[in-house]
Amino acid sequence: MTASNPAPAQFQAQAAAQLDDFMPGGALAPTSAADAESRPNLVGMDRDDMNAFLSEMGEPAFRAKQLFQWIYNRGVTDFEGMTNMAKPLRAKLADSFRMHRPSVSAHQVSSDGTQKWLLRYDDGNEAETVYIPDDDRGTLCVSSQVGCTLTCKFCHTGTQRMVRNLTPADIVAQVMLARDTLGDWSVTSDKRRLTNIVFMGMGEPLYNTDNVIKAMKLIMDGEGISLSKRRITLSTSGVVPEIERVGRETDVLLAISLHAVNDELRNEIVPINRKYPLKELFAAVRNYPGLSNAKRVTWEYVMLKDVNDSVADAKQLLRLIKGIPSKINLIPFNPWPGSPYDCSSDAQIKKFADVIWNAGYSAPIRTPRGRDILAACGQLKSESQRIGKRERMQMEAIQAEKEAAVGISL
Ligand code: SAH
Ligand code: SF4
Repeated sequence: MTASNPAPAQFQAQAAAQLDDFMPGGALAPTSAADAESRPNLVGMDRDDMNAFLSEMGEPAFRAKQLFQWIYNRGVTDFEGMTNMAKPLRAKLADSFRMHRPSVSAHQVSSDGTQKWLLRYDDGNEAETVYIPDDDRGTLCVSSQVGCTLTCKFCHTGTQRMVRNLTPADIVAQVMLARDTLGDWSVTSDKRRLTNIVFMGMGEPLYNTDNVIKAMKLIMDGEGISLSKRRITLSTSGVVPEIERVGRETDVLLAISLHAVNDELRNEIVPINRKYPLKELFAAVRNYPGLSNAKRVTWEYVMLKDVNDSVADAKQLLRLIKGIPSKINLIPFNPWPGSPYDCSSDAQIKKFADVIWNAGYSAPIRTPRGRDILAACGQLKSESQRIGKRERMQMEAIQAEKEAAVGISL
């Protein structure tokens, strides 16, 4: 921010905090006083945030709307491209702001077309984002935290220490980067490749609710990225006190990582259950605003051999969800190095699914996607504990063995 265009106080504090965060590390310190990082980042700001800045610069309110559209609807990365603004204003904006995306530390493409980005934020922390193309849709699986405070026993992310919450900018930038790579901005694509978003990457979104809600609002805004609330799903392991709020403020679809149908087992494999047991979880879901047949809750259920995959478990699941508009996602367990479980056999998964189907529920068995690049559910992990070559080879060997044993096809 230049002296002639002072930033509103909250953003000055934010810019200062950002600088404090990475200055001590040395390697990431800005190279000069005029370095880009001292300018506030427009990516992550909503219209009101932009308006606060622009009005201090003496610009009318409609400028914030134009800026918002350029950034989130057209995906411009250069102020020069903002052709409905006069040249001197473009220069002034370039002087005062940046439109920054994180850098890409790694980008991998699976044999099944799944893509995974390892993004590096300015403070050096990394998080993963996965794009899963299908015939009729393209789903982006976004992260909400670097690491996770929770320690679900079957989840690779759960073995990584919690480093920090992602900011709205960090979250929305995952979507923008994917659109950049896919050539999926309104000006470049007729048919959208990125059609759906799931908050099922690294982290527990409802331990970062404020930032996740702000990011979702940016993603849904009709003048910006413009993805409908029916194409956004938030998955939680069961942070009960936040469930109603996220529904009320965003109206997005809800997914619950259930994975066990009694408290004893769920306490063990999804430890947040000790704080918010099944009774409380189901009460919160029943109260989720607007549930109906058009807006059903998704119950995620990872299939763990001899742990939670019996026909009795399936029947208990039906009892629990009775009266709640529901669909069930059966997820074959994705192994990772050192994981303490095996995936249920195909035959057992089918038996379990049959019980659910016969009761009239949709219960798709999710085909694992992107396993060869560790992009499948629960395999994401980043930062200092990113897996090395030895671990990866070990992981591939475990996987090959399991596939040979149970005949899972990728
Ligand atoms: N923290 C949130 C969202 C991220 S996890 C949550 O737990 O819901 C996304 C989904 O992947 C969750 O349903 C999670 O339980 C599931 N998952 C985690 N590890 C897995 C694994 N190894 N195999 C298959 N699914 C897994
Ligand atoms: Fe965290 Fe979700 Fe993994 Fe549990 S399943 S450790 S809540 S990311």
